Amino acid sequence: MSNAHSWGRLDKKRRAIAPFTPSIRATGKDSYLAYGNGRSYGDTCHNDRGTLLSTQHNNAVICFDRENGLLTAECGILLGDILQHLQGSGWFLPVVPGTKFVTLGGAIANDIHGKNHEKRGTFGRHVTSFNLWRSNGSQVQCSALEEAELFAATIGGMGLTGIITRAQIQLMKVASHFVEETKTPFASLSDYFDVEKEFSAASEYSVAWVDSLARGKSFGRGILMRGDHTFQSAQPDYRKPRLTVPLTPPISLVSGLPLRLFNLAYFHRNKRQNSSVSTHPDSFFFPLDVLAGWNRLYGPRGLFQHQCVVPQETARDVIPQLLAATHSAGQGSFLTVLKRFGSLNSPGFMSFPRPGYTLTLDFANRGQPTRQLLDRLDAITLDAGGRTNPYKDARMSADTFQRGFDQWQKLEQFRDPALQSDFWRRVVSPSAADTAAATIAATRNALVAPPLETPVNQAAKGEVHKPQLQPEQDNYSAHPAAMGPK
Ligand SMILES: Cc1cc2nc3c(=O)[nH]c(=O)nc-3n(C[C@H](O)[C@H](O)[C@H](O)COP(=O)(O)OP(=O)(O)OC[C@H]3O[C@@H](n4cnc5c(N)ncnc54)[C@H](O)[C@@H]3O)c2cc1C
Repeated sequence: MSNAHSWGRLDKKRRAIAPFTPSIRATGKDSYLAYGNGRSYGDTCHNDRGTLLSTQHNNAVICFDRENGLLTAECGILLGDILQHLQGSGWFLPVVPGTKFVTLGGAIANDIHGKNHEKRGTFGRHVTSFNLWRSNGSQVQCSALEEAELFAATIGGMGLTGIITRAQIQLMKVASHFVEETKTPFASLSDYFDVEKEFSAASEYSVAWVDSLARGKSFGRGILMRGDHTFQSAQPDYRKPRLTVPLTPPISLVSGLPLRLFNLAYFHRNKRQNSSVSTHPDSFFFPLDVLAGWNRLYGPRGLFQHQCVVPQETARDVIPQLLAATHSAGQGSFLTVLKRFGSLNSPGFMSFPRPGYTLTLDFANRGQPTRQLLDRLDAITLDAGGRTNPYKDARMSADTFQRGFDQWQKLEQFRDPALQSDFWRRVVSPSAADTAAATIAATRNALVAPPLETPVNQAAKGEVHKPQLQPEQDNYSAHPAAMGPK
C-alpha cells in the first residue's frame, strides 16, 4: 500500500498501487486505474476499490526527430524531463500546465491546457498517435486516422479507456525556452477584460493573477502576465525545487492574515506598468514548483481547487459573481487565476476547455462551509452556461458533471470494463455504469485469455507490495526520471 495522494491531499488513505507493465492482463473482477504523478487535485486519479497502476518507471524518450520536431516517449515521463531533453534543440512543448511534474500520459488523459489555449488549444491537439493498453492485454495504436473514435475518447478520457503506453507529439518551434514577460496591472475586473482584449491577442501566452481578497474600490484588481519566447541564445537548465515543505503543519497556513499579506505584497510588487523582462521558463511557466510539497501548507485537511469555464458573453457578469461568492462565504482563495480559452477544438470529446474565460480558485478545506461554497460556485457556473473542471475536482455532484459534459455517456461506452476511478463512480450513476460495462464486457469476453500471474494481480491479492511512494515524500523526488541539475 502507498499514500498515492492526489494534489488536494484531502484524505490520508493508503492505496493499493503496483507498477504498470504492458504485459499485464486483467482478471475478471479486478479494477485498475493508471496513476501518473498525482497532480490531479481530486479523485480522477484514484480507484479505492481497485489497484492503481503506477507508470513512473515507464519514462524513456524513445525517439526524437529533430528535423520535424516529433518526439515519441513512454507515458510516465515528466513534462519537465521532456523539456530538459529538448533544451537547445529549438523545439518546445506546445502546451505546458502550471507544473512540470506532470506525466505525458496524465497530460493526454486530462487533455491539459496552458497559458496559450487561444493560440494552440489543448495538449491533445499536438498528439499525433499513441499506443493504448487494454485490459485484455492488447495494445491498440490510435491516431486521428486509426481507431479514431478511441483516440478521441482517450484524449480527455481521464484514464478510463486504457493505459497510454507511449505517445508521439508534434513539438513547437521556438528560438529559445526563455520568455520575454510583460506584466500589466489592472484595477478591476472590467479593466481586466479591456486590457486582456487589447494585449493578449499579440502574445503567445497570457494569464492573469487576481487579488481575490481585495474589496471595495480594489475589487477584482490583479496583474496580467503575457509572454513570448525570446531569441536569446542561453539555454536554461530546468531546476529541481529549491525548497521543500517537509511536514504538514497542524493548521492551514494559507488563510487569514498570511493570505491577505501575500496578496497585498504580490500586487504591489508587480504593479509597475508594463514592465518587460526576460524570464527563465521555470519562473514563467512553473513558479510554484520552486517549493516542493507546497500543498502541505494547507494543513492536514488539504485543499480544494475549483476551476470553471464560462462563455465569453456571460463572463463579465459571472466572474465578479464568483469572486463575490467567495467573499460572502468568508473564504479566501490563495491563488486566483483568470485566463481566456480560445475556439480551437480539441480532438477529445470530454476535454474541459471551451471558448470563454476560466477562473481557478484554491481553498483550504474547512469541511462543510467550503463544500457549500463550492456547490454555490458550481451553480453560478452552470447557470451561466459553463462547467467545472473534473480533474481539479473532488466533490462535484453527478448532476453538475452530467449537465456540464453532455457526452459522458459516450465515454462510458469506450471505458475499458476493468478501468474505473473514484471520480467516475461518483458522477456516473453506478447502475448506468454497471449496465454499460456489462454490455461491453459481454462483447469482449471472447477476446480475453485466462489471467496470467503478473505483478498486478499478485499485488491485488496482497502477494507483492512494495510501496512506490513513501509517506510525506514528495512524489517528484520519488520519480526515477527526475531530471535537471540538482
Ligand atoms: C501546481 C499545479 C498546476 C497545474 N496547472 C494546470 C494547468 O495549467 N492546466 C491544466 O490543464 N492542468 C493543470 N494542473 C493539473 C494537471 O496538469 C493534471 O491533473 C494532470 O493530468 C496531472 O498529471 P499526472 O501525470 O500527475 O497524472 P495523475 O494526476 O496521476 O492522473 C491524471 C489522470 O490521468 C490518468 N492517467 C495517468 N497516466 C495515464 C496513462 N499513461 N494512460 C492513461 N491514463 C493515464 C489517470 O488515470 C487520471 O485519470 C495543475 C496541477 C498542479 C498540481
